[in-house]
Amino acid sequence: MKILKFGGTSVGSPERMKDVARLIADGQRKIVVLSAMSGTTNRLVEIADYIKKRNTESGNALIGHLRGKYKKHIPELFATAEARKRCEKFFRDEFINLGRLAQGDFNETMEKAILAQGEILSTHMMFFYLQEQGMKVRLIPALDFMHIDADGEPMLRPIHEYWERLLAEDKDTEIFLTQGFICRNPQGEIDNLQRGGSDYTASLIGAALHLEEIQIWTDIDGMHNNDPRFVEGTRPVRQLHFEEAAELAYFGAKILHPTCIQPARYAGVPVRLLNTMQPDAPGTLINNTMQSGVIKAVAAKDNITAIKVVSSRMLLATGFLRHIFDIFARYKTSIDMVATSEVGVSLSIDNDSRLTPIVEELKKVGTVEVDHNMCIICVVGDLVRENKGFLARITSAMSDVAVRMVSYGGSNHNISFLVKAEEKKQALQALSDKLFKESSIN
Ligand code: ADP
Ligand code: ASP
Ligand code: MG
Repeated sequence: MKILKFGGTSVGSPERMKDVARLIADGQRKIVVLSAMSGTTNRLVEIADYIKKRNTESGNALIGHLRGKYKKHIPELFATAEARKRCEKFFRDEFINLGRLAQGDFNETMEKAILAQGEILSTHMMFFYLQEQGMKVRLIPALDFMHIDADGEPMLRPIHEYWERLLAEDKDTEIFLTQGFICRNPQGEIDNLQRGGSDYTASLIGAALHLEEIQIWTDIDGMHNNDPRFVEGTRPVRQLHFEEAAELAYFGAKILHPTCIQPARYAGVPVRLLNTMQPDAPGTLINNTMQSGVIKAVAAKDNITAIKVVSSRMLLATGFLRHIFDIFARYKTSIDMVATSEVGVSLSIDNDSRLTPIVEELKKVGTVEVDHNMCIICVVGDLVRENKGFLARITSAMSDVAVRMVSYGGSNHNISFLVKAEEKKQALQALSDKLFKESSIN
């Protein structure tokens, strides 16, 4: 049995939903995870933001606008009066509920409940449509089995127990449909797996049930060898090792949620990235095979802050680094890159929400310099040291870029460069030109 996740663009219009319905109607039993229709979650974020700012009027106006948009989908999606009526009633109840949520005083629980509505809307539309098409479908609420613990970590055991029972009891259903992204926290309130987290939902279910394959269906034909939003002439990569895919996702390849590879990798379930608009394209297979000596892809992670601490003493005293890392740990801020010298250390973080107190503390042990608006450029592949020469190739591609930091050796699959955000595009293009265009290289 496979699990298939369809992203926002793949369910972004009634036409697209019909395409998805055709794709999944192959007679095989499967689990299907849907995101919200593209644009909806952003709109819900805006609504919550207006409520936070106590501008209920603008919040309500946006809800009205969204309701109008969804209403228009009804005649486009359904052929029968019965299905239309059913969906109309559902939307009416749903938007009344959203309006009610928007009336209260703002708090985080309310915000999360608002954000959850996008996936609830899309899955119900698809459910009604598949039923109208006469398919054997069941809508399984994600809030019944997807839970996070007090640290925000998803729990595999409840997923396993819930689905194992469900699949054993129900032998008739062909398509089990559920929501991505949404979950419950230990207080039983609605929460989520972070933006883009529907990939994570699919991977968690696939791993908990040790399914045959986790398929991530999106709007592009697999993981490309560079970011297609910034670089021309990128090409799909046919195969990646779990570690390569995890590095690319963590370092900015938006096609995958940063955490989604980990559960699949531990359970040994292959992940396949596929294109809803081009279903016959092979896409990218992610599994345990490492192709020897191949540089696979480049990605970039934005909004990075670099911090340099030069020790007040002449040489690095024992315990200096531990002291520095302790400060970051106390403020729950994780470090991406590290470089040390005789007298100091440079590091990078992607979350600067606690930067002020961190810098205050760092100033007690050394001289501190902070650079904002930086970007990590990450090259991924089989970069084991035995494959001599790759470092020279990669660094020579970066020869016209002002590099602030370099990191290699933490993993055999990644070399990272810290550059200014304004040089990101140039760096990405240069790497593509030198690493992937010269055909002799791969
Ligand atoms: P979905 O809504 O289906 O989850 P996303 O927008 O999250 O889709 O991810 C798909 C997008 O990721 C693509 O349209 C593409 O612009 C972007 N992307 C960034 N880096 C890469 C890459 N290396 N390969 C493929 N797509 C990438
Ligand atoms: N709808 C959510 C978002 O836009 C989750 C997802 O699409 O994966 O972030
Ligand atoms: Mg996504």
